[in-house]
Amino acid sequence: MKVRFSRRLENLPPYLFVEIDKAKRKARQEGRDLIDLGVGDPDLPTPRHIIEKLHEAAKDPKNHKYALDQGMPALRQAIADWYRKRFNVDLNPETEILPLIGSKEGIAHMPLAFVNSGDYVLAPNPSYPPYRGSTILADGMIYDMPLLEENDFLPELNKIPLPVRKKARLMFLNYPNNPTGATADESFYQKAVDFASKHNIIIAHDAAYSEMSFDGYKPMSFLEVEGAKEVGVEFHSLSKAYNMTGWRIGWVCGNADIISGIAKVKSNIDSGIFSAIQIAGIEALTGPQDHIQKMCAMYQERRNALCQGLRASINADFVVPKATFYVWVNVPKKYDSRSFSSLLLEKCDIVATPGVGFGSSGEGYIRFALTVPKERIHEALRRIKERL
Ligand SMILES: *Cc1c(COP(=O)(O)O)cnc(C)c1O
Repeated sequence: MKVRFSRRLENLPPYLFVEIDKAKRKARQEGRDLIDLGVGDPDLPTPRHIIEKLHEAAKDPKNHKYALDQGMPALRQAIADWYRKRFNVDLNPETEILPLIGSKEGIAHMPLAFVNSGDYVLAPNPSYPPYRGSTILADGMIYDMPLLEENDFLPELNKIPLPVRKKARLMFLNYPNNPTGATADESFYQKAVDFASKHNIIIAHDAAYSEMSFDGYKPMSFLEVEGAKEVGVEFHSLSKAYNMTGWRIGWVCGNADIISGIAKVKSNIDSGIFSAIQIAGIEALTGPQDHIQKMCAMYQERRNALCQGLRASINADFVVPKATFYVWVNVPKKYDSRSFSSLLLEKCDIVATPGVGFGSSGEGYIRFALTVPKERIHEALRRIKERL
């Protein structure tokens, strides 16, 4: 039988990391000593007390059954308490908070609730890929909002044409930003809220990196801005803050009607998060938080090492990030993002992600993830200096 894929599936963008994945596998097989600065996955384990809570909860038969779709009340309450303490924003745990099987899951399902065929979704370019993938899977059309260095990697909302505004249902934003490491302040969020409110567009703000920041800077929640809850929701994740990427737990919070739409889609697709993981999630949010500060100090040291080294060795040009574990670097003039990442892999056994993999406006950049120990960053810099 000739299997025919849906148009939806065929419309998904090609996976741009195929070549680099292949080269990476080959290098591994040849036994080369790769330094992987490619993937945004924390290298340290989940804090011990969270693992122990999972262990305990996994042994209780009560937790072996289907979980509640909308998440355990105790988890929603823990999220509400954390939010008030961290951002001074009040959320109703019954209607304004929805736990997710990782924030990617909610992001991927969200357009199904709000986008009809032919509607626009406003998505940053470059961006975390699921904003685009989920739009295409919902038969929506993507309108690219370029994130340019000259605009501090913030979209220029006033450049969005009127006909697009009229047909737009949803706008994805993400600060602190993957892949650029950029941050947004209150005046930007206020502009976005006013824009959304004027044109009746839902804002989905992805705050996956809200707890990962440096130099005393603390990211704010988009929901702190006046009127934000009228127009939008914010996605959060335990993945990056608590080294829990494999556990699959996050949440979306904000506007109750928007939350109910996402919940309706989800109730047709999944059956909740494993209860033991929800209990471990409560432990993450309510237990000791000293891990966060240590984590930020560690990434800050790694960031300093990489940034200083790149300036010294290849005279690289970039903005030093105040948040996230990414450094978004201009590639030297005679390369494009893919040829430079191939060069790093071939000559230095270093993996970094070509910017174009995050969208056309990522061309000319390469993303380094600070997910290896400082000594390995120094080793990577040594290789760059000696071999390039
Ligand atoms: C890592 C990341 C997430 C987290 O996804 P989970 O599904 O919660 O693990 C969300 N958004 C961005 C931009 C990310 O980089």
